[in-house]
Amino acid sequence: MIYYILNGHDRKDDIVSMLMMFYPNEKYVLTDKTEEGLTFVSSYDGKCCVSYLYENGKLKTEGTADLRNESDTEKKRIIGLSAYIALKKHKDIYMPWGILTGVRPAKLITEMREKGMTEEAIKKELTEGYLVSESKYSLMSAVSRSEEEIVQNGKGKIGIYIGIPFCPTRCLYCSFTAYPLKQYHSRVEDYLCALEKEIKFCAKYVKGKEIESIYIGGGTPTSLNEEQLERLLEAVEGTFTINGEYTVEAGRPDTLNRQKLKILKAHNVNRISINPQTLNDSTLELIGRAHNKKMFIDAFNIAREEGHEHINTDIILGLPSEGEDEVRRTIEELCRLSPESITVHTLAVKRASRLKETLEKYELPDVRKMDGIITMTAERLKEAGMYPYYMYRQKNMVGNFENVGYCKPGCQCLYNVEIMEEKQSILALGAGGSTKLVNNQTNEIRRIFNVKSVTDYIERIDEMLQRKEVGMEWL
Ligand code: SF4
Repeated sequence: MIYYILNGHDRKDDIVSMLMMFYPNEKYVLTDKTEEGLTFVSSYDGKCCVSYLYENGKLKTEGTADLRNESDTEKKRIIGLSAYIALKKHKDIYMPWGILTGVRPAKLITEMREKGMTEEAIKKELTEGYLVSESKYSLMSAVSRSEEEIVQNGKGKIGIYIGIPFCPTRCLYCSFTAYPLKQYHSRVEDYLCALEKEIKFCAKYVKGKEIESIYIGGGTPTSLNEEQLERLLEAVEGTFTINGEYTVEAGRPDTLNRQKLKILKAHNVNRISINPQTLNDSTLELIGRAHNKKMFIDAFNIAREEGHEHINTDIILGLPSEGEDEVRRTIEELCRLSPESITVHTLAVKRASRLKETLEKYELPDVRKMDGIITMTAERLKEAGMYPYYMYRQKNMVGNFENVGYCKPGCQCLYNVEIMEEKQSILALGAGGSTKLVNNQTNEIRRIFNVKSVTDYIERIDEMLQRKEVGMEWL
């Protein structure tokens, strides 16, 4: 348990984000006096912020940062910076992202460029003002540059997301809306009926709009049986005009067979994702994936035989029991298969995951080791002709690292870029769907949420449709 006190400001989330970086997977409790154990104090007086760290009531460290201007961004920066200085004196761990805690680092650079800042000024601000390492700055700058053209071309178009929240089993680290089919198979038909209703309802909103991308994600959409999958794809093409990118996550190899891959191809799906996460069988078993390396390779090869020309593969760095050697084996195997893109995640220990509940049972790599594994992966993918084209960060990631999408030239996933840069409206359907409406004149964003639970979604589908009516003039 880590306690914290706020004086002169109420930026609770910013302080908790900093505490999480140094003391992950703890409980963070707001208090008004120093407590047993660690108590962190953040005091802001309008000119500077001073942070103190107490252990059992005794002052251990402190850090100060001065305000450079009156903006809210600057206030946030100095609150984070003073906390960082105090916490780093107490626990000297490597923080390549410095005090940057946001989930969209590349978007931050884009915004700085839009404000007219030069590349030199952006670099100085990030590396000196936010203490971002040179290598992370280079990564975010490269991603931002790569995203520019896509965002420009996507303006005025829309994206569609459709969620299928079922999976064969639940992976150890999963925090998504994913219902194991063993318990929920009887709800699939009702879910598809509700989803079809929502798809048809959205016809009026997409009329006359250019759809840049359709993304069917989850869960694992290919958990549906052949008939259900066909039915879903027919409903999609019955409502939406598919001229652009059309992705289906075929995430778990244990849900795939030749027939399903044929169905995807026949319905003009032009990007699929088959995700091994790792190609070490003992880790796959440990993380509850219910498939092995051979099943992944077979699924990948069948997808190629059936004509799938863009296959993405997701992997996770920092899985329990995986060091550099294990990751290298996975990467080498993937490079041999030569997918068009590889999305490299860093393990995040999420509150809703089984991993979080049983964390003490596992050995996870430390921050320095992780940094080495990330660097090795990036170098190997560069050698394989890939470059980073999108990225995001999550809270509670091992070492506060990042997730990066790498691809061969011309193989970026447009949907992934648009969702990160937030310049395009994305209509989201299905349980857990979060529609994002962007006003391109003002850059304001309005969100419409569907309920997460499958049962609620089925039972309250008419309410979901009503929610969609609100605010749709922005689409
Ligand atoms: S395949 Fe993905 S969505 Fe399904 S349980 Fe595993 S991590 Fe969760």
